[in-house]
Formats: sequence, C-alpha cells, structure tokens
Amino acid sequence: MQPTPQQKITLVGAGLAGALLAILLARRGWQVDVFEKRPDPRRRGYEGGRSINLALAERGLHALRLAGLQDAVMAQAVMMRGRMVHPLGGETMLQRYGRDDSEVIWSVHRGRLNIAMLDAAEAAGARIHFNQRLDGVDFAARRVRFVDDHERSARELPFDVLLGADGAGSGLREALRPHLALGESFEPLGHGYKELEIPPAPDGGFRIEPHALHIWPRGGYMCIALPNTEKTFTVTLFLPSQGDPSFATLPDLAAARDFFARDFADALPLLPEFDADWTNNPIGGLGTLRLQRWHLDGRAVLLGDAAHAMVPFHGQGMNCAFEDCVALDECIASAADFEAAFAAFEALRRPNAEAIQAMALENYVEMRDRVDDADFLLQRALERV
Ligand code: FAD
Repeated sequence: MQPTPQQKITLVGAGLAGALLAILLARRGWQVDVFEKRPDPRRRGYEGGRSINLALAERGLHALRLAGLQDAVMAQAVMMRGRMVHPLGGETMLQRYGRDDSEVIWSVHRGRLNIAMLDAAEAAGARIHFNQRLDGVDFAARRVRFVDDHERSARELPFDVLLGADGAGSGLREALRPHLALGESFEPLGHGYKELEIPPAPDGGFRIEPHALHIWPRGGYMCIALPNTEKTFTVTLFLPSQGDPSFATLPDLAAARDFFARDFADALPLLPEFDADWTNNPIGGLGTLRLQRWHLDGRAVLLGDAAHAMVPFHGQGMNCAFEDCVALDECIASAADFEAAFAAFEALRRPNAEAIQAMALENYVEMRDRVDDADFLLQRALERV
C-alpha cells in the first residue's frame, strides 16, 4: 500500500514499540500522529515505573538497525556475555550465551533508548502529542477521544486507522472489547518484582563483573542484576506474592534486610542504598496476556505488550515488540489495504508471540532453580555439542 495524502495513521503510545513503529512508517512517507499519555520525557525526565534497563537481543537489534538506530543505541549499551551465577554460599560461575562475543546480549537503558527513538521518529516526520491518553473510540464514526490528565481537558479527533502500541494496560484494547471477540485471557504469575541499585565502586568502576547478567538463583525466587553505562547495576528481586518467603512475609524493612542477609548475603554489601530503595521502589506485577484476535477489520490493530504482554524471564518482551513493528510496517507496505495488512500481521506474529510467552514462563524456572544445578548444566552442554 502506498501512503496517500488522504489517509493518516494514528498511533497510540510512544513507548518502545510506538516510537519505533513511528520511525518506520514515517520513513515510508505515511503521515503519522502519535498520542502518548505521559509527558515528553525529554522535557520532564523519564517517568519510570518499569524496569530501568533491558536485555536487548539480536531480534531487537535487527529492528533498530532497520530504523537506523544501531550506532546511537550501541554507544550506550553494555555487553553481557552470559549469566554470572551466584550460588548460595558458593563460587560465582560465568555461563556463556554462545561460543564467543559474536553471541551476546546487551543491557540498554529504557529511558535513553526511548528518547533516542522519539528524536528519530520526529526527525522522520512523525508528530508526537504528549499528555494525550486514549480514553474512548467511536469505531462507527471513526472518532477517537484523548484526555490530557494534567490540563484536565479532552478532545475528539477523526481517524482513518488506529495502531495500539499502548502497552499492557492498553486503552485501545479496552475500547475494542465491546466490538470484537478478543478471546482475552490474563494469567497472573503470582510473583512480583522490586528494583534496587548497586552504585559504582568508590574508585568509580563497576562493583562486580560488568559484562554479564548476574543471577542469584534461590529455587522459588531470585535476584538478577544488569549493568548500566554509569557503572551501576539495576538489581531486580523476583519473589512470590504469597507464601513463605514472599512479599507478604516481608512487611517491613527489617524483615527485608534479614531476608537479604540470609539469602543474598553476597549481594547485600553491594547495596548501600538498600533501605531507601526497598522503601521507595514499588512492587511490580507480572503476567501473561493472550488474545485470539489482534485487529478490528481495517480500523484498528494491537501490537507489542498491548497484544501479548509476557513475563520478563526471556528478556524478549521489547525484542518481540520490535519484531512486531518491523512486521507490521512490512505488511502495511505490501498489502492491498489495512484490513489485509492487519490480518497478515496477526497471522505472522501471533504464533511467534505465543511461543515466546511460553518460553518466558519456562525460563523463570530455569533461571531461579536450575542454573546452579550441575546435572542440568551438563545436559545443556551436551545438547550444544
Ligand atoms: P510500553 O513500553 O509499556 O509502552 C506503552 C506506552 O503507551 C507507554 O509510553 C505508555 O505511557 C503509553 N500508554 C499507555 N496507555 C496509554 C493510553 N491509554 N493512551 C496513550 N498512551 C498510552 N523486554 C525485553 O525485551 N528485555 C528485557 O530485559 C525486559 N525486561 C523487563 C523487565 C521487567 C521487570 C518488565 C516488567 C518488563 C521487561 N521487558 C523486557 C518487557 C518490556 O518492558 C516490554 O515488553 C516493552 O516495554 C513493550 O513495549 P510496548 O511499547 O509494547 O509497551
């Protein structure tokens, strides 16, 4: 399909998927308007709330290359050669992801990555409207309503086609529910997460090996740590919500400290701001969202977390969302109309997303319970031979 001056694309969400898709579509000549509920992170600072850094793998890197962002992103990425496992009371061991440094993953900063993509989207010609939360859609009249939560104002705009890259809590998905049998299911993991920080060492360097994804496996739960270019690490504790131990059995700071002193004794001295981090950082929820339908004829389609949020244990949610962007852009370019493009996109991507979702769930068990199991590691090594 060739862009026509009459047809505009309205994209909801300028997060990781929305910003990348805006670049790809604007470069093809589409008139793209992006509506994002948050303020502009370049003016107001990045509003976190979710993982500070992310593991970028070849699938995501391929998409960034197509968007011309590889150099900008890689200049700020830290290579991770493998898992550095910290067994309880044992020696650390590095388990490489591949045979050499051609098979690695990268730790990238969510906020900086997002900002680089927003800049590139605007440079490609996309218009980004911040503080605009999708609040409702009249699909028959093809009108969409956006609310500015800061100004407490609302406006209704006409649309030709709506692309929903508005994340796990998607407003477009909610608007689609009465019009489309989405076949929606949400499977909560029953585990939450909390982020903590390892600051730089007193000499300004990293406190632990920088080129690894650190894991403290403890059977039913674990900590991981990913490096940042500032020589810090973002540590994430993944823990059941109920049971013992769980977030429910750590009602206060003293209980949390005791838990870390017992189960993560080598990590606790690396966390001088433990008390403030534990107190100030929220507990995040995790789960798997599955939909049987991703699009309403040629009027609307969902992608990224809006279509298939997953647990983060394969480090593939963003990578998978980036693959969606490449696929949707190509489907739109090659199909006769939007309905055919969205149908082709869903047929291509839904089976892949479901496979990654299943692998992400399986990998939680492997990461927290098996990476320090000698028999399991031997089996894995033999499989590679
Ligand atoms: P989001 O990044 O959530 O972006 C959605 C955007 O839409 C946001 O900017 C939001 O403000 C906006 N929005 C929401 N609602 C509306 C509305 N109604 N109107 C307008 N705008 C709206 N993935 C990896 O690949 N590697 C990792 O290592 C990794 N680690 C993770 C660790 C954790 C703890 C978590 C929770 C996730 C992790 N992920 C990881 C997954 C990754 O964060 C997501 O898959 C990715 O952010 C999905 O991108 P998205 O653009 O679809 O959604």
